[in-house]
Amino acid sequence: MIKISGLKKKFDNLEVLKNINLTIEDGDIYGLVGRSGAGKSTLLRCINGLTDYQEGSLTVDGKEVKNFSSYEMREFRRGMGMIFQQFSLLNRKTVYQNVATPMQCWNYPKDEIDRKVKELLELVGLSDKMDAKPRNLSGGQKQRVAIARALSMDSKVLLCDEATSALDPKTTLSILELLKKINKERGITIIIVTHQMEVVRNACNKISILENGEIAAQGETKEIFAQRPKALQNLLGEESTK
Ligand code: ADP
Ligand code: MG
Repeated sequence: MIKISGLKKKFDNLEVLKNINLTIEDGDIYGLVGRSGAGKSTLLRCINGLTDYQEGSLTVDGKEVKNFSSYEMREFRRGMGMIFQQFSLLNRKTVYQNVATPMQCWNYPKDEIDRKVKELLELVGLSDKMDAKPRNLSGGQKQRVAIARALSMDSKVLLCDEATSALDPKTTLSILELLKKINKERGITIIIVTHQMEVVRNACNKISILENGEIAAQGETKEIFAQRPKALQNLLGEESTK
């Protein structure tokens, strides 16, 4: 689904990503872990075309993410759902309207929008909150709305940038269960960017550990945790002192 080779990314003279190589298969729940500043969000932004890169290649579904026309970019982004730590909901709009907005922007027929919003809210367990405003929802509920909205364009890939970092451990687990359900039932490839070890251990089948813009370790989550490479020990050490 996503193939990255020899990718380099600079901001002016700052090399933020150095020779990134990774392959994400269709149906993976893939973890990108690392400390703050390691380059995780930048890599995610390269993957969804929000920022460019200087060297290497990056393909999504066989298509090189480079030099898109604005029309191609719009179409490409449509296939990528994204959720964030801070939820990024429209606070003046209801839950229903938040999920409906992307489809309205793309001029979906009204009855199709209505059908899809209701189906997605049922999927994320918020059918009873359709008319609520975001301020009246818990953090976990807000993230569920964001997930429903991210899936509204029938994305094949869902990118999650620190999506559980603002949530307590129990709510985090319930969001991870929802992501696993979506992956299994809808076949959506999910990329989870996080600095939280327990998140990748719980949800991801494969991971890459990023350190200073480089991949310090990569592989099946189980194997990485069994081998405990130095990169992982560093991260776990940081976790336990929190
Ligand atoms: P992470 O998500 O792992 O915390 P980021 O990808 O956000 O890391 O950032 C990686 C590095 O790139 C950091 O040193 C950060 O300061 C730098 N960086 C991120 N975005 C920009 C930008 N728009 N301009 C300049 N430097 C940036
Ligand atoms: Mg980040």
